Amino acid sequence: MARILVVEDEPDIALGLEEDLKRQGYQVETVGDGESAVRRASRETWDLILLDVMLPRLDGFEVCRELRRARIKTPIILLTAKVQEAEKVMGLELGADDYVTKPFSPRELRARIQAVLRRFSGESLGLHRFGDVEVDFDRAEVRKKGLPVDLTALELRLLQTFIGRRGRVLTRAQLIDAAWDQGTHVSDRAVDTHVLNLRKKIETVPGQPQFIRGIRGIGYRFDA
Ligand code: CA
Repeated sequence: MARILVVEDEPDIALGLEEDLKRQGYQVETVGDGESAVRRASRETWDLILLDVMLPRLDGFEVCRELRRARIKTPIILLTAKVQEAEKVMGLELGADDYVTKPFSPRELRARIQAVLRRFSGESLGLHRFGDVEVDFDRAEVRKKGLPVDLTALELRLLQTFIGRRGRVLTRAQLIDAAWDQGTHVSDRAVDTHVLNLRKKIETVPGQPQFIRGIRGIGYRFDA
């Protein structure tokens, strides 16, 4: 049974979340401000933190930054009332794993929670299939309609990053972090070029990608 820390200062929302999550079988604890969130998240083990952005004392972004700085890797889903793309990018770059925009439907939140928990449950990438593409990460082989596709090492790392974090919006900076060697200077345009090349190799219609989707102003998301 997964343990979830809910950080939310509005009592009604906090209570609603807690009841809904408990009904789904999660163990839930709630705190109402940023400082308590940092304290509890640092001292106890959690499977997931649902973190409201607008909080008294420390806001959600600051909580996120502090936890990641302290090398606490518990997955975090930000609950944000703000829809500005810059804020989403900031949350993701501070180390949040996903965000849900308020008001959210319980169903949407459930799906995001399940996706994040699955991602962190240590499943091995091994063999992965989407559409008519088959990726064997152990052998570093990709086939489309059964025929081998020649991916560069970088494209394979990009694809691995996408698949490993499927359903999650990734900024270009996060892709660079994950797929390029440390310390390499890479422009956003270079990222776009490599994503474009990867699409040409794996998408059915590269001009209308169904797997690697561009998220305007933010980055990319892999859906499969
Ligand atoms: Ca709030």
